[in-house]
Amino acid sequence: MSVYDVIVVGGGPAGMTAALYALRNGKTVLIIEKEGFGGQITHSPRVENIPGFVSVSGNEFADKLFDQIIAQGAEFEIETVASVECDGDLRIVRTEEGTSHEGRTVILATGVKHRMLGLENEEDLVGEGISFCAVCDGDFYAGKTVCVAGGGNSALQEAILLAEKCEKVIMLQDLPKFTGEARLQDVLFAKDNVTSFTNVKITALRTEDETFKGVTIEDRADGTSQNIDCDGLFVAIGLIPENEGFKDLADLNAWGYFDSDEQCLTKTPGIFVAGDCRSKQIRQVTTAAADGAVAALAACRYLNQ
Ligand SMILES: Cc1cc2nc3c(=O)[nH]c(=O)nc-3n(C[C@H](O)[C@H](O)[C@H](O)COP(=O)(O)OP(=O)(O)OC[C@H]3O[C@@H](n4cnc5c(N)ncnc54)[C@H](O)[C@@H]3O)c2cc1C
Repeated sequence: MSVYDVIVVGGGPAGMTAALYALRNGKTVLIIEKEGFGGQITHSPRVENIPGFVSVSGNEFADKLFDQIIAQGAEFEIETVASVECDGDLRIVRTEEGTSHEGRTVILATGVKHRMLGLENEEDLVGEGISFCAVCDGDFYAGKTVCVAGGGNSALQEAILLAEKCEKVIMLQDLPKFTGEARLQDVLFAKDNVTSFTNVKITALRTEDETFKGVTIEDRADGTSQNIDCDGLFVAIGLIPENEGFKDLADLNAWGYFDSDEQCLTKTPGIFVAGDCRSKQIRQVTTAAADGAVAALAACRYLNQ
């Protein structure tokens, strides 16, 4: 079995950029992805904030990045990494499929999953009416009506951004009160194009000819239902990092993110983290790619010691 200089776990923008930087530094790289290369951005049909691209589909961007790392010599596997063990200077990556791979360093770039509402046709509508990111997709709803599901800080922040662009923003909170900071609530609800429903459950996503048209909500107190027409639904009910399996190697913060700073280092020599999976303020393609570069260069320095 060959021993790779760098094994990257996760083939999103962070992982693929890490691979690119390690390869450009003359290192051998294996990148392991459990679903499809590209990560979350492949759910976006139109991305307009990646430098150098006026507009690009998430899939096209992911394909270009994948082609770039393959052209540089990356090896890849479609497998799910279950654990990473340290054996002296070796890092052994074991997969759910029963295979194992050996490397001298490992970069964990496992990303996040957005918590979903759990409704029928929700997956199909992601990028086609359902969004998770006002910074990314808010412009597509300029002058339109949108709903925001959630009531914590993320939902309030998303809604504040959307209220600057959209004709109307309707907050849908499933608890009796908004739980985000009072300061954010003050800013949001001072806007005259923002209305809200509390203690409501979204029970259906309504479509016509496969086009998203709005939601049905149910009042948790009296069980009554009503339809709300809107052009988009921003779901901000939490992110789920998938880092539990690696917590012996890299500390997790209270929300399950790798507790690492801008250096992308962990408490374990030879293990680095990059992208949305680590604790950070801004989760975007640009910041994921930046982490990938930082983590790869840190891994190269470690290897060159
Ligand atoms: C609908 C949508 C639209 C967006 N629009 C924009 C936008 O317009 N502009 C922008 O900048 N950002 C946008 N984002 C955010 C952007 O996609 C993320 O910030 C970025 O993809 C993070 O990259 P990442 O590599 O850190 O993580 P991810 O993209 O989450 O990639 C992580 C990868 O790791 C894999 N993985 C996880 N665990 C394992 C394991 N155990 N074994 C193997 N593989 C594993 C996952 O399958 C995934 O492919 C959007 C996100 C969504 C969901």
